[in-house]
Amino acid sequence: MRLSSRRGLLLGAGASALVASRAFAQTAPAAGPFTLPPLPYAPEANEAAIDTRTMQIHHDLHHAAYVNNLNAALKDHGQIGGLPLGVLLTKLAELPDTIRAAVRNNGGGHANHSMFWEIMGGPGGTPSGELAEAITRDFGSFETLRTRLETAGNTQFGSGWAFVTVSPEGRLGIAQRPNQDTPLMEGGRVLLGNDVWEHAYYLRYQNRRAEYTRAWWNVVNWDAVAKRYAAAKAGTLGI
Ligand code: MN
Repeated sequence: MRLSSRRGLLLGAGASALVASRAFAQTAPAAGPFTLPPLPYAPEANEAAIDTRTMQIHHDLHHAAYVNNLNAALKDHGQIGGLPLGVLLTKLAELPDTIRAAVRNNGGGHANHSMFWEIMGGPGGTPSGELAEAITRDFGSFETLRTRLETAGNTQFGSGWAFVTVSPEGRLGIAQRPNQDTPLMEGGRVLLGNDVWEHAYYLRYQNRRAEYTRAWWNVVNWDAVAKRYAAAKAGTLGI
């Protein structure tokens, strides 16, 4: 009796595992070289600018879809799929016509969102040290940088991104790109960037994009941005 009920439990567990693996097989993303990075903090961490539900949908569904679609596009192109993402995005013109748009949109999306999570989750405030000096040198003041990045985001028609770019010498600039394009595609490097797709802010802000781009500074992680600045100057910043 006891043995039989134990066997029943074991069979039950096995059956559940089988069901789970079948469910996984049906929904599993295309196997591929790229993976969705976990959020480096709880989804509640950006409440000072972005609500928790938006963070969950944005990371778990939108970013996941870019990764899955990128892997699907690359699945029959092994050599191309072996390139680091930052290199792959500089080779769009060399890709087969059949996958160029998919790699541009989804590879750009993967790079942009991976950067985006990394530079948030912080307390906002102001940058310090060498980065602060570079901002003063290249923009005149931190407030001018803020205004210029917000303007780039607010005036991007439709979906896109506003970026602060960084050269290998540490020079900073502002860039605006539609869709999931990124300065990486021209061989540039991104210090930080804000996602101004409606999916990034609509639940809390609806059509008030300028409120979102102003509040967004409240969650920038300047320590993470400073690390990206140092990596850019060292030539080790990938995406
Ligand atoms: Mn997004």
